[in-house]
Order: sequence, then C-alpha cells, then structure tokens
Amino acid sequence: MKPKIDKEKCIGCGTCASLCGEVFELKDGHAQVIAKDDTVIEKNKDEIKQAVEACPVQAISLE
Ligand code: SF4
Repeated sequence: MKPKIDKEKCIGCGTCASLCGEVFELKDGHAQVIAKDDTVIEKNKDEIKQAVEACPVQAISLE
C-alpha cells in the first residue's frame, strides 16, 4: 500500500497532514507524501486510511 496525492484535486486544506504528519506534509499549497519507506507507511496505515476518508476532495488514493 502506498498513498498518492492527486495534486490537481488537492486544495491544500491540511487535513491529511494533521491526521498523519509522518506521511503527509503541506508544501506550496499542496499535500505531498513524505514517508520514505514501507515501515513508516505500515506503522501509519490506520491514519492513512482516515486521511483518505477525510480528504474533502478525494485527492488521496492508495496503490
Ligand atoms: Fe489535499 Fe486532501 Fe490532504 Fe486536504 S486532505 S491537503 S485536499 S490531499
């Protein structure tokens, strides 16, 4: 599982970063994925799913 941000859709609300700051970060008005390896992703998988559900514009997908 790897989260991906659709920058065209992202409105930079910051919800994902506040739910899961180890994986998402706001930069230049858009979210980006900062998690470098699978361990961080695995550790935060519940928070990542919360962020997917909480994103107001469905900009986060899981691959
Ligand atoms: Fe962008 Fe969605 Fe994250 Fe908000 S929750 S910053 S819209 S990806």
